[in-house]
Amino acid sequence: MNTQEYLDLENEYGAHNYKPLDVVLNRGRGVWVWDVEGKKYLDCLAAYSAVNQGHCHPEILKTMMAQAQNLTLTSRAFRNDQLGQFYKDICKLTRSHKVLPMNSGAEAVETVIKAVRKWGYKVKGIPEDQAEIIVCANNFHGRTITIVGFSTDPTARTGFGPFTPGFKIIPFGDADALEAAITPNTAGFLVEPIQGEAGVIIPPDGYLKAARKICDAHNVVLILDEIQTGLGRTGRLLAEEHENIEADLTLVGKALSGGFYPVSAVLSNKEVMDVLQPGEHGSTFGGNPLACAIARTALRVLKEEKMIENAREMGDYFLKGLKTVHSPHIKEVRGRGLMIAMELVPEAGGARQFCYRLADRGMLCKETHENTIRFAPPLVIEKDEVDWALEQIEAVMTKPF
Ligand SMILES: *Cc1c(COP(=O)(O)O)cnc(C)c1O
Repeated sequence: MNTQEYLDLENEYGAHNYKPLDVVLNRGRGVWVWDVEGKKYLDCLAAYSAVNQGHCHPEILKTMMAQAQNLTLTSRAFRNDQLGQFYKDICKLTRSHKVLPMNSGAEAVETVIKAVRKWGYKVKGIPEDQAEIIVCANNFHGRTITIVGFSTDPTARTGFGPFTPGFKIIPFGDADALEAAITPNTAGFLVEPIQGEAGVIIPPDGYLKAARKICDAHNVVLILDEIQTGLGRTGRLLAEEHENIEADLTLVGKALSGGFYPVSAVLSNKEVMDVLQPGEHGSTFGGNPLACAIARTALRVLKEEKMIENAREMGDYFLKGLKTVHSPHIKEVRGRGLMIAMELVPEAGGARQFCYRLADRGMLCKETHENTIRFAPPLVIEKDEVDWALEQIEAVMTKPF
Protein backbone atom coordinates (compact mmCIF):
# COMPACT_ATOMS: atom_id res chain seq x y z
CA MET A 1 0.00 0.00 0.00
CA ASN A 2 1.18 3.56 -0.59
CA THR A 3 0.89 6.60 1.67
CA GLN A 4 -2.46 7.72 0.25
CA GLU A 5 -4.03 4.31 0.82
CA TYR A 6 -3.00 4.35 4.49
CA LEU A 7 -4.39 7.86 4.88
CA ASP A 8 -7.66 6.77 3.29
CA LEU A 9 -7.94 3.85 5.71
CA GLU A 10 -7.39 6.08 8.73
CA ASN A 11 -9.82 8.66 7.47
CA GLU A 12 -12.51 6.16 6.70
CA TYR A 13 -12.41 4.08 9.87
CA GLY A 14 -10.70 6.18 12.53
CA ALA A 15 -11.88 8.89 14.89
CA HIS A 16 -10.56 12.25 13.73
CA ASN A 17 -9.24 13.40 17.10
CA TYR A 18 -5.74 14.00 15.68
CA LYS A 19 -4.37 15.93 12.75
CA PRO A 20 -1.00 14.29 12.07
CA LEU A 21 1.46 15.16 9.35
CA ASP A 22 0.72 12.91 6.39
CA VAL A 23 3.77 10.73 6.84
CA VAL A 24 3.15 7.02 7.36
CA LEU A 25 6.01 5.44 9.31
CA ASN A 26 6.83 1.77 9.49
CA ARG A 27 10.37 1.54 10.89
CA GLY A 28 12.58 3.26 13.46
CA ARG A 29 16.16 2.95 14.75
CA GLY A 30 17.72 5.40 17.18
CA VAL A 31 16.97 8.94 16.02
CA TRP A 32 15.83 7.82 12.56
CA VAL A 33 12.45 6.67 11.21
CA TRP A 34 11.37 5.55 7.74
CA ASP A 35 8.06 5.93 5.95
CA VAL A 36 6.25 3.38 3.80
CA GLU A 37 7.80 4.88 0.67
CA GLY A 38 11.28 4.23 2.11
CA LYS A 39 12.05 7.88 2.87
CA LYS A 40 14.25 8.42 5.93
CA TYR A 41 13.64 11.13 8.54
CA LEU A 42 15.32 12.48 11.65
CA ASP A 43 12.67 12.25 14.37
CA CYS A 44 12.65 15.59 16.17
CA LEU A 45 9.59 14.88 18.29
CA ALA A 46 10.50 11.49 19.79
CA ALA A 47 6.81 10.76 20.42
CA TYR A 48 6.52 13.76 22.71
CA SER A 49 9.60 12.55 24.63
CA ALA A 50 8.44 8.96 25.07
CA VAL A 51 11.31 7.75 22.89
CA ASN A 52 14.18 9.48 24.72
CA GLN A 53 16.26 6.29 24.45
CA GLY A 54 15.86 6.19 20.65
CA HIS A 55 13.56 4.04 18.54
CA CYS A 56 13.66 0.28 19.14
CA HIS A 57 16.52 0.47 21.61
CA PRO A 58 18.16 -2.98 21.36
CA GLU A 59 18.50 -3.55 25.12
CA ILE A 60 14.90 -2.62 25.88
CA LEU A 61 13.77 -4.76 22.95
CA LYS A 62 15.72 -7.72 24.32
CA THR A 63 14.15 -7.29 27.75
CA MET A 64 10.68 -7.00 26.29
CA MET A 65 11.04 -10.18 24.23
CA ALA A 66 12.47 -12.16 27.12
CA GLN A 67 9.87 -10.99 29.62
CA ALA A 68 7.01 -11.50 27.16
CA GLN A 69 8.03 -15.15 26.92
CA ASN A 70 7.96 -15.57 30.71
CA LEU A 71 5.04 -13.61 32.06
CA THR A 72 3.13 -10.51 30.94
CA LEU A 73 0.23 -9.90 33.31
CA THR A 74 -0.81 -11.17 36.71
CA SER A 75 -3.01 -8.27 37.78
CA ARG A 76 -2.31 -7.00 41.27
CA ALA A 77 -4.44 -9.76 42.73
CA PHE A 78 -1.15 -11.67 42.83
CA ARG A 79 2.43 -10.53 43.07
CA ASN A 80 5.06 -10.72 40.34
CA ASP A 81 8.83 -10.91 40.55
CA GLN A 82 9.46 -7.72 38.55
CA LEU A 83 7.43 -5.22 40.54
CA GLY A 84 9.57 -4.99 43.65
CA GLN A 85 12.74 -4.76 41.60
CA PHE A 86 11.23 -1.95 39.53
CA TYR A 87 10.25 -0.11 42.73
CA LYS A 88 13.74 -0.40 44.08
CA ASP A 89 15.45 0.67 40.85
CA ILE A 90 13.33 3.77 40.33
CA CYS A 91 13.42 4.78 43.99
CA LYS A 92 17.23 4.51 44.11
CA LEU A 93 17.59 6.42 40.87
CA THR A 94 15.23 9.26 41.81
CA ARG A 95 15.75 9.16 45.59
CA SER A 96 12.06 8.57 46.18
CA HIS A 97 10.51 6.58 49.00
CA LYS A 98 7.41 5.12 47.43
CA VAL A 99 6.08 4.38 43.97
CA LEU A 100 2.64 3.79 42.53
CA PRO A 101 2.74 2.38 38.99
CA MET A 102 0.11 3.15 36.35
CA ASN A 103 0.03 3.07 32.55
CA SER A 104 -0.60 6.43 30.90
CA GLY A 105 0.49 9.85 32.02
CA ALA A 106 -3.10 10.98 32.56
CA GLU A 107 -3.63 8.06 34.94
CA ALA A 108 -0.60 9.13 36.96
CA VAL A 109 -2.11 12.63 37.19
CA GLU A 110 -5.48 11.22 38.28
CA THR A 111 -3.70 9.05 40.84
CA VAL A 112 -1.86 11.98 42.34
CA ILE A 113 -5.05 14.03 42.57
CA LYS A 114 -6.72 11.23 44.52
CA ALA A 115 -3.73 10.72 46.81
CA VAL A 116 -3.27 14.41 47.52
CA ARG A 117 -6.96 14.99 48.23
CA LYS A 118 -7.00 12.06 50.64
CA TRP A 119 -3.84 13.36 52.32
CA GLY A 120 -5.55 16.73 52.62
CA TYR A 121 -8.43 15.18 54.56
CA LYS A 122 -6.57 12.54 56.58
CA VAL A 123 -3.35 14.36 57.42
CA LYS A 124 -3.81 18.08 56.90
CA GLY A 125 -7.35 18.09 58.31
CA ILE A 126 -9.16 19.82 55.45
CA PRO A 127 -12.96 19.55 55.90
CA GLU A 128 -14.58 16.84 53.77
CA ASP A 129 -14.96 17.62 50.07
CA GLN A 130 -13.27 21.02 50.43
CA ALA A 131 -9.76 20.18 49.21
CA GLU A 132 -8.30 22.49 46.59
CA ILE A 133 -5.48 21.85 44.19
CA ILE A 134 -3.76 24.79 42.52
CA VAL A 135 -2.70 24.44 38.88
CA CYS A 136 -1.24 26.81 36.27
CA ALA A 137 -2.69 28.49 33.22
CA ASN A 138 -1.65 26.87 29.93
CA ASN A 139 -0.96 23.58 31.69
CA PHE A 140 -1.03 20.25 29.95
CA HIS A 141 -1.62 17.24 32.19
CA GLY A 142 -3.60 14.89 29.95
CA ARG A 143 -7.06 14.29 28.58
CA THR A 144 -9.46 12.91 31.18
CA ILE A 145 -12.55 14.88 32.18
CA THR A 146 -11.02 15.97 35.48
CA ILE A 147 -7.77 17.02 33.83
CA VAL A 148 -9.29 18.94 30.90
CA GLY A 149 -11.61 20.54 33.44
CA PHE A 150 -8.64 22.50 34.79
CA SER A 151 -7.08 23.17 31.39
CA THR A 152 -7.24 26.73 30.05
CA ASP A 153 -7.13 25.59 26.42
CA PRO A 154 -10.62 26.02 24.90
CA THR A 155 -9.97 23.23 22.38
CA ALA A 156 -9.25 20.78 25.19
CA ARG A 157 -12.31 21.76 27.25
CA THR A 158 -15.13 23.01 25.10
CA GLY A 159 -18.05 20.63 24.89
CA PHE A 160 -16.83 18.28 27.62
CA GLY A 161 -18.34 19.75 30.79
CA PRO A 162 -19.53 19.52 33.48
CA PHE A 163 -16.14 19.29 35.13
CA THR A 164 -14.70 18.18 38.46
CA PRO A 165 -14.60 21.01 41.00
CA GLY A 166 -11.71 21.71 43.39
CA PHE A 167 -9.09 23.31 41.15
CA LYS A 168 -7.78 26.84 41.14
CA ILE A 169 -5.84 28.26 38.20
CA ILE A 170 -2.99 30.76 38.61
CA PRO A 171 -0.49 32.20 36.10
CA PHE A 172 2.57 30.01 35.40
CA GLY A 173 5.93 31.28 36.62
CA ASP A 174 4.46 33.63 39.23
CA ALA A 175 5.37 32.60 42.79
CA ASP A 176 3.45 35.51 44.34
CA ALA A 177 0.28 34.28 42.63
CA LEU A 178 0.85 30.88 44.23
CA GLU A 179 1.22 32.36 47.69
CA ALA A 180 -1.90 34.48 47.20
CA ALA A 181 -4.00 31.54 45.99
CA ILE A 182 -3.29 29.29 48.98
CA THR A 183 -6.07 28.89 51.55
CA PRO A 184 -6.35 26.57 54.56
CA ASN A 185 -8.07 24.12 52.19
CA THR A 186 -5.20 23.95 49.70
CA ALA A 187 -3.87 20.40 49.53
CA GLY A 188 -1.48 20.59 46.60
CA PHE A 189 0.17 22.60 43.84
CA LEU A 190 0.48 20.74 40.53
CA VAL A 191 2.90 22.21 37.98
CA GLU A 192 5.13 21.31 35.04
CA PRO A 193 8.77 22.39 35.60
CA ILE A 194 8.74 23.54 31.96
CA GLN A 195 5.42 23.74 30.13
CA GLY A 196 5.94 21.46 27.14
CA GLU A 197 2.66 21.45 25.24
CA ALA A 198 2.26 25.19 25.85
CA GLY A 199 5.36 25.60 23.68
CA VAL A 200 8.37 24.93 25.93
CA ILE A 201 7.65 27.77 28.34
CA ILE A 202 10.53 28.05 30.80
CA PRO A 203 9.63 29.80 34.08
CA PRO A 204 11.87 32.49 35.59
CA ASP A 205 14.95 31.22 37.44
CA GLY A 206 14.14 30.51 41.06
CA TYR A 207 10.45 29.81 40.43
CA LEU A 208 10.50 26.19 41.54
CA LYS A 209 12.66 27.03 44.53
CA ALA A 210 10.18 29.71 45.56
CA ALA A 211 7.27 27.32 45.01
CA ARG A 212 9.03 24.75 47.20
CA LYS A 213 9.42 27.29 50.00
CA ILE A 214 5.83 28.49 49.76
CA CYS A 215 4.48 24.95 49.78
CA ASP A 216 6.59 24.12 52.85
CA ALA A 217 5.42 27.23 54.66
CA HIS A 218 1.74 26.40 54.12
CA ASN A 219 1.88 22.61 54.37
CA VAL A 220 0.92 22.24 50.71
CA VAL A 221 2.11 19.24 48.70
CA LEU A 222 4.30 20.18 45.73
CA ILE A 223 3.55 17.95 42.73
CA LEU A 224 5.79 18.15 39.67
CA ASP A 225 4.45 16.73 36.44
CA GLU A 226 7.71 15.51 34.88
CA ILE A 227 6.01 13.24 32.38
CA GLN A 228 7.63 15.24 29.58
CA THR A 229 10.52 17.04 31.30
CA GLY A 230 11.69 14.00 33.24
CA LEU A 231 14.05 11.13 32.45
CA GLY A 232 16.81 13.14 30.85
CA ARG A 233 14.93 15.39 28.45
CA THR A 234 16.18 18.67 29.93
CA GLY A 235 19.73 17.45 30.51
CA ARG A 236 19.05 16.23 34.04
CA LEU A 237 17.33 13.07 35.20
CA LEU A 238 14.51 15.25 36.55
CA ALA A 239 14.01 18.93 35.71
CA GLU A 240 13.65 19.75 39.43
CA GLU A 241 17.43 19.29 39.66
CA HIS A 242 17.98 22.53 37.74
CA GLU A 243 16.79 24.32 40.88
CA ASN A 244 18.07 21.83 43.43
CA ILE A 245 14.69 21.07 44.89
CA GLU A 246 12.75 17.92 45.60
CA ALA A 247 9.06 17.70 44.90
CA ASP A 248 6.86 15.81 47.34
CA LEU A 249 5.32 13.93 44.44
CA THR A 250 6.74 13.51 40.96
CA LEU A 251 4.95 12.12 37.94
CA VAL A 252 6.85 10.24 35.28
CA GLY A 253 5.61 8.44 32.18
CA LYS A 254 6.43 8.62 28.49
CA ALA A 255 10.17 7.70 28.39
CA LEU A 256 9.75 5.41 31.40
CA SER A 257 9.37 2.63 28.83
CA GLY A 258 11.50 4.13 26.05
CA GLY A 259 8.41 4.05 23.87
CA PHE A 260 7.80 0.31 24.04
CA TYR A 261 4.79 0.20 26.29
CA PRO A 262 2.59 2.55 28.33
CA VAL A 263 4.20 2.87 31.77
CA SER A 264 3.76 5.73 34.21
CA ALA A 265 4.38 6.19 37.90
CA VAL A 266 3.78 8.47 40.83
CA LEU A 267 6.95 8.90 42.88
CA SER A 268 6.53 10.04 46.45
CA ASN A 269 8.90 11.61 48.93
CA LYS A 270 6.41 12.17 51.70
CA GLU A 271 3.80 10.38 53.72
CA VAL A 272 1.23 11.19 51.01
CA MET A 273 1.28 7.75 49.39
CA ASP A 274 0.61 6.00 52.69
CA VAL A 275 -2.93 7.38 52.84
CA LEU A 276 -4.03 5.02 50.06
CA GLN A 277 -5.45 1.79 51.46
CA PRO A 278 -6.09 -1.51 49.66
CA GLY A 279 -9.00 -1.23 47.26
CA GLU A 280 -8.97 2.56 47.05
CA HIS A 281 -7.02 2.80 43.81
CA GLY A 282 -5.58 0.53 41.17
CA SER A 283 -5.28 -0.55 37.57
CA THR A 284 -5.43 -3.97 35.93
CA PHE A 285 -2.28 -3.36 33.92
CA GLY A 286 -0.47 -1.01 36.35
CA GLY A 287 2.70 -2.62 37.66
CA ASN A 288 2.50 -5.63 35.37
CA PRO A 289 5.70 -7.65 34.95
CA LEU A 290 6.18 -6.75 31.29
CA ALA A 291 5.89 -3.03 32.06
CA CYS A 292 8.20 -3.31 35.06
CA ALA A 293 10.88 -5.23 33.17
CA ILE A 294 10.78 -2.78 30.28
CA ALA A 295 10.91 0.24 32.60
CA ARG A 296 13.88 -1.17 34.52
CA THR A 297 15.89 -1.51 31.32
CA ALA A 298 14.68 1.84 29.96
CA LEU A 299 16.00 3.52 33.12
CA ARG A 300 19.22 1.53 33.10
CA VAL A 301 20.19 2.47 29.53
CA LEU A 302 19.42 6.15 30.15
CA LYS A 303 22.11 6.07 32.83
CA GLU A 304 24.56 3.55 31.41
CA GLU A 305 24.67 5.05 27.96
CA LYS A 306 25.02 8.58 29.35
CA MET A 307 21.96 9.85 27.53
CA ILE A 308 21.29 12.52 30.15
CA GLU A 309 24.73 14.07 29.74
CA ASN A 310 24.32 13.82 25.98
CA ALA A 311 20.99 15.65 26.18
CA ARG A 312 22.71 18.45 28.06
CA GLU A 313 25.62 18.73 25.62
CA MET A 314 23.69 18.27 22.40
CA GLY A 315 20.88 20.50 23.71
CA ASP A 316 23.29 23.35 24.36
CA TYR A 317 24.89 22.83 20.97
CA PHE A 318 21.54 22.67 19.14
CA LEU A 319 20.22 25.80 20.84
CA LYS A 320 23.44 27.71 20.15
CA GLY A 321 23.17 26.69 16.51
CA LEU A 322 19.55 27.78 16.28
CA LYS A 323 20.48 31.19 17.67
CA THR A 324 22.75 31.75 14.68
CA VAL A 325 19.88 31.21 12.22
CA HIS A 326 18.74 34.64 11.13
CA SER A 327 15.29 34.73 9.63
CA PRO A 328 12.49 37.29 9.68
CA HIS A 329 10.13 34.43 10.57
CA ILE A 330 11.76 33.66 13.92
CA LYS A 331 10.57 35.43 17.05
CA GLU A 332 12.54 33.45 19.63
CA VAL A 333 14.35 30.19 20.24
CA ARG A 334 14.47 28.76 23.75
CA GLY A 335 15.12 25.47 25.43
CA ARG A 336 16.73 23.40 28.12
CA GLY A 337 18.60 20.26 27.22
CA LEU A 338 16.91 18.69 24.22
CA MET A 339 13.57 20.34 24.94
CA ILE A 340 13.79 23.17 22.45
CA ALA A 341 11.28 25.42 20.74
CA MET A 342 11.40 27.93 17.93
CA GLU A 343 8.60 30.45 18.09
CA LEU A 344 7.70 32.16 14.85
CA VAL A 345 6.25 35.61 14.38
CA PRO A 346 2.50 35.57 13.63
CA GLU A 347 3.17 36.96 10.13
CA ALA A 348 5.16 33.83 9.26
CA GLY A 349 1.87 32.14 8.39
CA GLY A 350 1.90 29.34 10.95
CA ALA A 351 4.40 26.70 12.02
CA ARG A 352 2.73 23.80 10.24
CA GLN A 353 3.87 24.74 6.75
CA PHE A 354 7.46 24.87 8.03
CA CYS A 355 7.00 21.41 9.52
CA TYR A 356 5.94 20.15 6.08
CA ARG A 357 8.95 21.78 4.47
CA LEU A 358 11.23 20.23 7.08
CA ALA A 359 9.60 16.86 6.41
CA ASP A 360 10.39 17.27 2.69
CA ARG A 361 14.01 17.64 3.74
CA GLY A 362 13.88 14.60 5.99
CA MET A 363 13.18 16.07 9.41
CA LEU A 364 10.02 15.31 11.37
CA CYS A 365 8.84 18.09 13.66
CA LYS A 366 5.45 19.03 15.00
CA GLU A 367 4.00 22.44 15.62
CA THR A 368 2.59 23.18 19.04
CA HIS A 369 -0.21 25.72 18.87
CA GLU A 370 -0.05 27.96 15.81
CA ASN A 371 3.40 29.43 15.81
CA THR A 372 5.85 27.21 17.64
CA ILE A 373 7.99 24.35 16.34
CA ARG A 374 9.42 21.99 18.90
CA PHE A 375 12.79 20.25 18.49
CA ALA A 376 12.98 17.29 20.85
CA PRO A 377 14.87 14.41 19.23
CA PRO A 378 15.78 11.20 21.06
CA LEU A 379 18.55 11.84 23.59
CA VAL A 380 20.97 9.64 21.63
CA ILE A 381 21.39 12.22 18.86
CA GLU A 382 24.99 12.86 17.81
CA LYS A 383 26.78 16.06 16.90
CA ASP A 384 26.86 15.49 13.13
CA GLU A 385 23.13 14.77 13.23
CA VAL A 386 22.50 18.06 15.04
CA ASP A 387 24.65 19.80 12.41
CA TRP A 388 22.58 18.21 9.68
CA ALA A 389 19.33 19.24 11.42
CA LEU A 390 20.58 22.82 11.73
CA GLU A 391 21.33 22.90 7.99
CA GLN A 392 17.80 21.83 7.18
CA ILE A 393 16.28 24.35 9.59
CA GLU A 394 18.47 27.14 8.25
CA ALA A 395 17.42 26.30 4.68
CA VAL A 396 13.72 26.21 5.49
CA MET A 397 13.79 29.39 7.56
CA THR A 398 15.88 31.48 5.18
CA LYS A 399 15.04 30.31 1.68
CA PRO A 400 11.88 31.54 -0.02
CA PHE A 401 9.06 29.01 -0.52
C1 LIG B 1 2.01 13.71 27.76
C2 LIG B 1 1.79 14.37 29.05
C3 LIG B 1 0.80 13.96 29.95
C4 LIG B 1 -0.21 12.87 29.60
O1 LIG B 1 0.36 11.66 29.29
P1 LIG B 1 -0.49 10.55 28.48
O2 LIG B 1 0.36 9.33 28.55
O3 LIG B 1 -0.68 11.07 27.10
O4 LIG B 1 -1.79 10.40 29.21
C5 LIG B 1 0.70 14.60 31.16
N1 LIG B 1 1.54 15.61 31.48
C6 LIG B 1 2.50 16.04 30.65
C7 LIG B 1 3.40 17.14 31.09
C8 LIG B 1 2.64 15.46 29.39
O5 LIG B 1 3.58 15.93 28.56
